[in-house]
Amino acid sequence: MKIVRYQDGAIAKYGVVEEGRIREMEGDPFGHFHLSAKAKNMEEVRLLSPCVPSKIVALGLNYRDHAEEVKLKLPEEPLLFIKPSTSVIGPGDEIIYPKMSSQVDYEAELAVVIGKTARAVPEERASDCILGYTCLNDVTARDLQSKDKQWTRGKGFDTFAPIGPWIVTDIDPHHLDIASFLNGERRQHSNTENLIFGPRRLVSFISHVMTLLPGDVIATGTPSGIGPMAVGDLIEVVIEGIGHLKNTIIAER
Ligand code: MG
Repeated sequence: MKIVRYQDGAIAKYGVVEEGRIREMEGDPFGHFHLSAKAKNMEEVRLLSPCVPSKIVALGLNYRDHAEEVKLKLPEEPLLFIKPSTSVIGPGDEIIYPKMSSQVDYEAELAVVIGKTARAVPEERASDCILGYTCLNDVTARDLQSKDKQWTRGKGFDTFAPIGPWIVTDIDPHHLDIASFLNGERRQHSNTENLIFGPRRLVSFISHVMTLLPGDVIATGTPSGIGPMAVGDLIEVVIEGIGHLKNTIIAER
């Protein structure tokens, strides 16, 4: 199932993509729902971020190839940071290049979407708490990340967490090709089999620190090949079996 959130007039709705059309969901994907007979063409609606996380828990250094690229030894346990809910934008939305930064990087990531409240969940039961998977771009003001001791500013600007285009619920996340394309040119390419800590381990680990709520997102980290973007660029995160997340960069006014 491919779950979308979209704008229908003044309200946001959930739906399911079926043969290029969106069937409207009555209820929401985190509780009870059924699919109504009402459907819309994809072109008729504006897609929104497919969930509304209370927080994004993100991973520093979680791909073996990226650890080698930045010459760091593999972490013994997951390194966590948080991106604020206000950084979330949807597919097709614009990433704002902040005046405060002179290096804004893309980071293609597999995102885990939490389906059920998770508190101290053992790894064997972590799958029950996962609704599905989507693409995320962990946009980073690299100069500010290096300058500050904490990552909050460099990772936390408004628009720095594009998510989408939809949540895929029935996919094995362990062997998916992941890539980023800047203006159509491939810049990152790896496979989720290079993840140091996989989705179930992460849900379990994080849920022993903080409660994960329905709609929360875990950004599982980025592979090698990270690099800067400029105003006017088109950046795409592409994950096999999930889809393309496309965003453009505009200057802060
Ligand atoms: Mg990242």
